[in-house]
Amino acid sequence: MDISSLTIDIIRDGLRSRRFSAVELASEALRFAEAENPKTNAYLRLAPERALGAARAVDERIARGEDAGPLAGVPVAVKDVILTKGFTTTCGSKLLANYVPPYNATAIERLEAAGGVILGKTNCDEFAMGSSNENSAFGPVRNPVALDRVPGGSSGGSAAVVAQGTAVVSLGSDTGGSIRQPASFCGVVGVTPTYGRVSRYGLTAFASSLDHIGPFARNVKDAATLLGVIAGRDVRDATSAETPVPDYSAGLGAGVKGLRLGLPREYFKDLTPETGAPLGRAVDALQRLGCDVRDISLPNTEYAIASYYIIATAEASSNLARYDGVRYTSRSEHSETLSDMYRNTRGEGFGAECKRRIMLGTYVLSSGYYDAYYLKAQKVRALVARDFARAFEEVDAVIAPVSPFPAFKLGEKVDDPIAMYLSDIYTITGSLAGIPCMSVPCGETPDGLPVGMQILTKHFDEATMFRIAAAFEQTA
Ligand code: GLN
Repeated sequence: MDISSLTIDIIRDGLRSRRFSAVELASEALRFAEAENPKTNAYLRLAPERALGAARAVDERIARGEDAGPLAGVPVAVKDVILTKGFTTTCGSKLLANYVPPYNATAIERLEAAGGVILGKTNCDEFAMGSSNENSAFGPVRNPVALDRVPGGSSGGSAAVVAQGTAVVSLGSDTGGSIRQPASFCGVVGVTPTYGRVSRYGLTAFASSLDHIGPFARNVKDAATLLGVIAGRDVRDATSAETPVPDYSAGLGAGVKGLRLGLPREYFKDLTPETGAPLGRAVDALQRLGCDVRDISLPNTEYAIASYYIIATAEASSNLARYDGVRYTSRSEHSETLSDMYRNTRGEGFGAECKRRIMLGTYVLSSGYYDAYYLKAQKVRALVARDFARAFEEVDAVIAPVSPFPAFKLGEKVDDPIAMYLSDIYTITGSLAGIPCMSVPCGETPDGLPVGMQILTKHFDEATMFRIAAAFEQTA
């Protein structure tokens, strides 16, 4: 069995025709992941007991003649910021190295109910803050396409396992680009759904108004299937939407003839040929499929990074306040007073990037600065969202680059936070607007590094986004 090229369809056929059982598949997948993982450090921990238990349940359902679910037997990996009941969840942080959650995230509950087999938890930047996976307390992840390069971040491990073939699909989280950017760096599909489409219950909060859970896969259909399973209203997350979830896979073959695509000029003007050329060829291919391609403008794009790094750090400073040594985390033992204990626990436990963001966020929220920074950033956020709303009056989707550059070398940007933050220049706008956006592989640089194309659509119109991605995928 070639684990690294499995898809959900292949697994469904294999189980139905009894070519393999779910337990055989899970054992083989675990063995493969264990053997391959030292190359990339993408898994932090495998979950053999959980995986084999889930696989056994799938086999039993099949033996009883029941429908075993849309993800029956599918090996899935999960970013280590999403809570798994009874199974360590570290958020890439030393502070939570021994944290065992008492409950499952809603996405995990739904995934397992659909027959998904969780193989393990994946490495990520600490509390999902970063663009290279180098902020993990458990060492960086290497990009399986080029081992001296980063996989992107913060969901670097979840992108890497799918690219490496040590999982069929995976879950990541995206606050400002953390699914799309690693997907583009590793050459896989990565989807950030509409804000509110997938419950955040059990997703460790970074910046609550921007956090999303979303899928990675090696093809568009698998990503659409996984999203269909985890999406939908959840009473335990007040921001989760009532909007019904369509059957995403059903519309994938509908074609794109006559769809109007907008190319925002602000995104293309500084693009280097390295990433611009493959993207240009992708746009040509979409045009040949019958899309009507036109230039558009999203004029407030240039303010998006500043706005994001104010809002996200403000929310992070508040969300991370709970890690103080009292409840969830390890505790610094050598403290005389309570405030010493807080200070020592947080001082020893958080990595440099988290500390930087806590300080920035506390500053922008402080009285006297609130109006100048936080309030202004919220106004800019509204303008960025309005840019998209106006664009969608004239186009059905926006096509854009994902990242200004392909996967960079490990260590190349670690000492320069601003250079690292600029990685997010094309992904942050979609996050601020809360619209669905995805990265689909669209070619390579002359050095053979993957390049992704970003597709963005109206709120809750994931179906059109998937349709465009699927049509393009067929041309590749
Ligand atoms: N790279 C961005 C950041 O560091 C986005 C992170 C994310 O989407 N979780 O904040």
